[in-house]
Parts: sequence; structure tokens; C-alpha cells
Amino acid sequence: MSKQQAPVKKNDIVTLNFEDITHEGNGVGKIDGYPLFVPNALPGETGQVKAIMVKKNFAIGRLLEIVERSPERVEPPCNVYFQCGGCQLQHMSYAMQLKMKQKQVESALRKIGHIDHITVESTIGMDDPWRYRNKVQIPVAEREGQLITGFYRKKSHEIIEGMDRCIITSEINDRMVEAVRSIADRLGIPAYDEQSHRGVLRHIMARTGEATDQTMIVLVTKTAELPHKQQFIDQLKETFPNITSIMQNINKERTNVILGKQTKCLWGEGYIYDTIGDIQFKISAKSFYQVNPKQTKKLYDQTLAFADLSGGETVIDAYCGIGTISLFLAQKAGKVYGVEIVPEAITDAKENAKLNKMENVDFVVGQAEKVMPWWTAQGLKPDVIVVDPPRKGCEEELLAAMIAMKPERIVYVSCNPSTLARDLRILEDGGYRTKKVQPVDMFPQTSHVECCALLTYEGK
Ligand code: SAH
Repeated sequence: MSKQQAPVKKNDIVTLNFEDITHEGNGVGKIDGYPLFVPNALPGETGQVKAIMVKKNFAIGRLLEIVERSPERVEPPCNVYFQCGGCQLQHMSYAMQLKMKQKQVESALRKIGHIDHITVESTIGMDDPWRYRNKVQIPVAEREGQLITGFYRKKSHEIIEGMDRCIITSEINDRMVEAVRSIADRLGIPAYDEQSHRGVLRHIMARTGEATDQTMIVLVTKTAELPHKQQFIDQLKETFPNITSIMQNINKERTNVILGKQTKCLWGEGYIYDTIGDIQFKISAKSFYQVNPKQTKKLYDQTLAFADLSGGETVIDAYCGIGTISLFLAQKAGKVYGVEIVPEAITDAKENAKLNKMENVDFVVGQAEKVMPWWTAQGLKPDVIVVDPPRKGCEEELLAAMIAMKPERIVYVSCNPSTLARDLRILEDGGYRTKKVQPVDMFPQTSHVECCALLTYEGK
């Protein structure tokens, strides 16, 4: 195909049958094997498409009209869905979303990992896949002299007009953000302006403990000073008498990263608590904590089931964050060792162990790929290793260290099927065999996929 010309030109209008969908949720239709990617089109549909960008090997199209509709198409309940970049799958039935995620994991395993000896389990979904997020971070700007909040329009930094709620975040978070906006507006606290790098309020972050109903507000400001600080605190407490913590995070940089280095507690304890299963967690403004508590419980239960502990095992939890999975495992293990690169997270992890009166855990700050060989040198021999790396997957050094440690079982928790597949291949080449892969839908309405894989040592 590479020598041939693309079968469409820019602005051509063609009729396409959509047969597949990409992991971003774009429909895929082909002309003689040449793919056109079309946002908002679903597999099984036929549509009229205008080619808006044409490259040698693919084109991007705009769906002008749906000629034949999929029975899986639904009306997106969010009024800004087509403008917002946050969700990608609201126009698809939830049943189809779950199937698509399962297929996506399976296809990554086959294509990237060359693993075709297992069938990926059906995705574990939610009974009610809305209002699940326990954390929201919303940008602030000014329009016609008023403070406005809302997510950015797709591929821009312009806040969507008329966005007063987000139906995947918890109701209380929505209400808190609106209250903060309106109080800051009345007090005349200026919004931060990206262009001029001036102003004060950059983002409003709201965080809730689903099980405890505790709440935290974080004002992200450009300046160290918050104008009318005391009035702001008083008015917010008046509106939400049960608020647990009011925080200020200072971010002076010109950057897309939301939180800055320094966090101050303006009022309250400076953290919230939440409970998953029987375990309590203390969460500070900057700690990583899974955003969908109901599904987190299912994911951790699955991790624990794959670890198959009977009470005496030595377990390593690499990339442990604030020790969430470690403490889950410690309920059934002899001893759990956790390693994590962010020092504050390890401070939280140690406190969380105390809070839950768990003594069979040991947490270390460091790069997992460096700490694991060091543990081996100390004589540590794990029966089970659990890893839960960021999207880029495990470092090669870490995979090599795991293979050298030869645990009976490895449980790999992943938020990116592509890097999971790549790493499973390396582990399989090192003597392990993938036994089960279980997707869990942590992020309904979006194209993100989380899964948990079990590998056992089979020898070479
Ligand atoms: N298991 C935890 C956290 C998972 S997120 C939970 O479920 O809550 C991934 C974590 O890996 C983050 O906390 C991040 O700080 C940490 N991390 C990233 N690179 C690392 C590395 N090289 N070594 C150790 N930890 C790392």
C-alpha cells in the first residue's frame, strides 16, 4: 500500500462501513484496506464521512451523517460531551464499552506481546457507571469579568461554556467546586491567566472519601498569598459545615502540571480518610489514590485472589504509592515489602500501616528497579511479587530483577494494555506464563482500561 496513493483526497465525502474502533474510541472504516479514523462512529454503523486530514497510510474523517445506526448507540447524557476532552465513550452503550475494553486488552496481548494462549476475562463493570470519581481538578478562568470553571474544549485551553457539572464525578465534588467558584468570584479573587502568567487562582481541586464522606478542597494558586484568605475560609465553612480540610497549593511555574511543590493547610487537618474493604487510608492533597473507590475494591480483591496467599508468604509490592495494595495483601501474607519513589507517599504508607495496626509491612523509598536487587542482596526471597507501575510500564531492570528473584507468582496491575503486553512478553521469555488477565473498568465513559494479570513460574 505504501507506494500507492491514498484512495481519498481532503474534503472528499465517502460512505463507510465501520468495522472496528480504536482505543481512543474513534470508529475505523476502510477503503481497500486504507483506514479512516472517524470520531463518534461506532462499529456496525454506516455513515457519510468527510475526509478532513489525509496521510499516506490513514485519514481522519468527520461523521456527517449516520446512514445505519448501531443498536449500541446511546444519547450521551452530558450536555458538553462532544466538546469536552474528558470522556470518549458516552455515545456507546455501557455493555459495548465493557466488551470493547476486553477486546482492546486481548488485541494488545496478541499484537504487542505475541501472547495468544489465553482468553482475556470479561471486563468487570459498574452497576451504575456514573458519578464515580472521588477527585476532580477543574481549571479556572475569567470571562466578562466573572470567574468561570469547567474542563477545556478538546485539544485547547479554552474552558467550555456552560459547564456547571461533570456527571462522572461525585455530586458533592461538583457542588464544592461551584461553591468555591462563587465565593472566590464574590471576593474578587482573580483567575490565573496562562498567556500573561498573572493572576491568582489556577485550579480548584475537590477530593472526597466515599466511605467516610470526608471532603477536601485544594485551591491551586500562582501566588503564595491568597487574597481575602480568612473570609474565603469562613464562607466555605459556612456553605459546607462538614468540610474536613481546606488547602492551598502553590504553583508558580508556567506549566500544564496542575499541582505545584508547596502545599499549605488553610483550615482543618490537612488530609482526609477513606476506607476500602476493611482498611483505612489517610490521603493528603498530593497523594496518588485511585479515583474510583467501588472499582478499586474489585481490583484489589482480584489482586489478592491472584496472589493466592495462605498466611506465611513473603510478598513484594513494587510501585506501592501510599501502601494501598500492600496493606490489602498484608491481611493474608506473612510479610509485605513495599517500594515507591515518592518520599511523601512512603510517609503516608507507614502511617497507614500504623492506622490499621499492621506490623508485617516494611516500606522503602526508592526506584523499584534499584531496590529489588538490593533486597535480593539482603537475602529477601519473595513468594509473590505484585507490580502496579505508571502508564509507561516496568523498567527493564525491574523485569530482570523479578525474573532473577523467581517468585512463584507475579501479579501485574496495569493501566496501559500496551506496556502490559510488552512486559508480559519479557516475563514469559524469562520463564513465566500468563495465566489470567482480568480487566476492571475503573474509568467508565472514557477509553482508559485497567487490568490485573496473573503469571506463574513454569521454568525454562
Ligand atoms: N499501587 C498504588 C499506586 C500505583 S500508581 C495504588 O494502587 O494506589 C504508580 C506508582 O508508582 C506511583 O505512586 C508512582 O509514584 C510510583 N513510581 C513511579 N516510578 C517508580 C519507580 N521507578 N520506582 C518506584 N515507584 C515508582
